[in-house]
Amino acid sequence: MTNKEIIVTGIGVGRGLVVGDVRRMPDPLPEPTKTGSTKTTEEELVRASSALNQTAVDLRARGVQAGGMAKDVLDALALMADDPMLLADVKERINRGSTAERAVFDAFAGFAAVLETAGGYMAERAGDLADVANRVIARIMGISAPGVPQSETPFILVARDLAPADTALLDFDIVRALVTTDGGPTSHTAILAREKGLPAIVGATLANVLVDGDIVIVDAGKGEIVLHPTADHVADALVEAQSRQAARDGATGPGRMADGHEVQLLANVGSSSSAGAAVDAHAEGVGLFRTEFLFLDNDTAPTVEAQRAEYAAVFDKFPGQKVVVRVLDAGADKPLSFLTDEGEENPALGRRGIRALFAHEEILRAQLTAIAQAAEASLAEVWVMAPMIATVEETEAFVGICRELGINKAGVMIEVPSSALLANHILEIADFVSIGTNDLTQYTLAADRLLGTVANLQDAWNPAVLRLIREVGLAGKMTKKPVGICGEAAADPLLAVVLIGLGVTSLSMSPTALADVRAEISRFTLSEARELAERVLSTRNAADARIAASAVLTQ
Ligand code: PEP
Ligand code: MG
Repeated sequence: MTNKEIIVTGIGVGRGLVVGDVRRMPDPLPEPTKTGSTKTTEEELVRASSALNQTAVDLRARGVQAGGMAKDVLDALALMADDPMLLADVKERINRGSTAERAVFDAFAGFAAVLETAGGYMAERAGDLADVANRVIARIMGISAPGVPQSETPFILVARDLAPADTALLDFDIVRALVTTDGGPTSHTAILAREKGLPAIVGATLANVLVDGDIVIVDAGKGEIVLHPTADHVADALVEAQSRQAARDGATGPGRMADGHEVQLLANVGSSSSAGAAVDAHAEGVGLFRTEFLFLDNDTAPTVEAQRAEYAAVFDKFPGQKVVVRVLDAGADKPLSFLTDEGEENPALGRRGIRALFAHEEILRAQLTAIAQAAEASLAEVWVMAPMIATVEETEAFVGICRELGINKAGVMIEVPSSALLANHILEIADFVSIGTNDLTQYTLAADRLLGTVANLQDAWNPAVLRLIREVGLAGKMTKKPVGICGEAAADPLLAVVLIGLGVTSLSMSPTALADVRAEISRFTLSEARELAERVLSTRNAADARIAASAVLTQ
């Protein structure tokens, strides 16, 4: 008997479409029982300490194998596995009669609870501790550790969600798509998938029905997983996948809609090496150069000369093209020790971004001087903008200093609802604006952009965020000045079309997202994008907004 097709939906990341067979990531281990040990205390102590030790060794070895950022993630996990305080706690529990697995479980859970109470960044590390505990317990029990299954042949990975240790080690030649039952559009998994150009569907709550070996079609563009597809459906999907790939490969020029309307497609960069990736992805320039990334480890403010050299290295990659440099955005999630006030209770609402720079005007002036010098010596068309502008007066002050120091194009970022609502006044002063949708969403929904527990609110499809963007688009139209987007929202192909419909004139994103966005916008005319935007603006929430937009796609 052949199985009937079943369709499971979720939130698609990217426009990829693949057909393949499922491999499930094992679910978390069951909680070890509380029944006392049948072994001697010494035996339990050896089981626990050798598993902790072996897990640390294994994590470090995987780090060496993976290299780069992944090595840092795995080294941090290894440190948890051989933390002396945790080991002491485990031993004490075993001495009181616990089994090795129960002692590890309780000791790690106790430590995780302490981190959770601390909140913020520490609370997010609690999940990592649970991941390490599971690896140790699996080792004690002699079963395979939860994690990405090993395979020589490609597969579609289905998981509840991915821990950092899993994502760090994903082999993108083997894992062809990701499906998770948990997580939202800005989850760690979704961001990774977007960055790597891997088709993914997150928050597919009913994907529990998928089991190892199932053949599925994963259509990230539609946010749809088809289980037990018919042979005809598979054949159609393969043709569609080819045509989407061809559209991606074919759309190499500047960003252009079906009616010829041009929308500049730019890249977000943080260093000269990421600028290289932007050039390879045919970016038309840089829409956001995050300069603070260059100085995260500095104890003192960088000199004008050191900055000039760093900026020149990026500008030189874009002769004749636009490079929008953002002055240091320090504070909250990106503290710089030479600029950020310590001990603020609420740093996201504190002296971050332009506020910190006005409090240390000498640092702002030194940076603008370095940018002006590097721009003068390069062929790039350099624009400069300020982060976290909340008022018209801040705009005046920033643009004034830029003019004084010889910056020709001075703009501001719209990341706070107040500046979106006052965009008409702001654009009378600034030469351009660029909307940072990551922060604009965070501040509109009052939801910390890094906190998993409120990730469902951090969604730029929310019509409240889109209505604010409409205000900015209208202000751009009235003043005839450019309105860019440089947050994650620009990397979502369908949302990109909506944003154009709201009046946005350029989109800046991580280089891997460019091909999909370029292909997607070429399928719509400007008036269709405006119609799409109108539909989305009248919805009640982000989920309805997505549905309203996707309905147009499937018509
Ligand atoms: C944003 O907030 O959307 C943005 C582009 O800036 P960052 O992500 O660097 O805060
Ligand atoms: Mg921001």
